[in-house]
Amino acid sequence: MLVDDRVLIDAGTGVGDLPLEALRRIEHVFLTHAHLDHIAGLPLFVDSTQGRQGRGPVTVHAREETLEALRRHIFNDVIWPDFSRIEGPQGALMVYRPIRAGEVVDLEVCQVGAVDVVHTVPALGYWVSDGRHTFGFSGDTRTNDSLWPVLNARASLDALIVEVSFPNEQRRLADVAGHYCPATLGADLERLRHDPHIWITAMKPGEEQVILRQLQHAVPNRRLAMLQTGQVLSL
Ligand SMILES: [Zn+2]
Repeated sequence: MLVDDRVLIDAGTGVGDLPLEALRRIEHVFLTHAHLDHIAGLPLFVDSTQGRQGRGPVTVHAREETLEALRRHIFNDVIWPDFSRIEGPQGALMVYRPIRAGEVVDLEVCQVGAVDVVHTVPALGYWVSDGRHTFGFSGDTRTNDSLWPVLNARASLDALIVEVSFPNEQRRLADVAGHYCPATLGADLERLRHDPHIWITAMKPGEEQVILRQLQHAVPNRRLAMLQTGQVLSL
């Protein structure tokens, strides 16, 4: 998800949909966790920033465990170069910046706050605010007690992008795999005091309509929609 040109949240295969000029404007990447569908676009993206003029390195913000997984398994000079050690015109091409739950990163365009969520590997969700408008981004998570109090503590919440991977029939699998199904997200939404537009993402291909229907049934008063590739959200 691209936020105001310069900030990317997660870096899956959708990164490849962005034109080179858009890629070269991105300065910060916030990763939720190290699973492939959240980092697959990162190696080629960082490579494509080489030679951009007047801009510093790409800063990759993530939990230390996520950064360690990248160092060890991706940017290890075997699978892909270690860009944190390769110099461009303005220093290293990539900088690792560990972030912990509860921490807020102050960028020029917005603030990004990190939140603990519960997945099969260490993971974070984020909230993003420009001081007037705020949205939340769950990343991959199952039911949890950490995301909802943090979102409730924000003065407002205009949008929430949240994953629901499996339909209710596969609730056991969703629990084991660290994902929401409509029933578990519906229960957690009971705890959210805000009334944001809720955009559902990460649905298993072919299950989208079933998941959406089950979710509408679980929380009939919430404003729900499916997040589409290429969609632009304005707050
Ligand atoms: Zn995952």
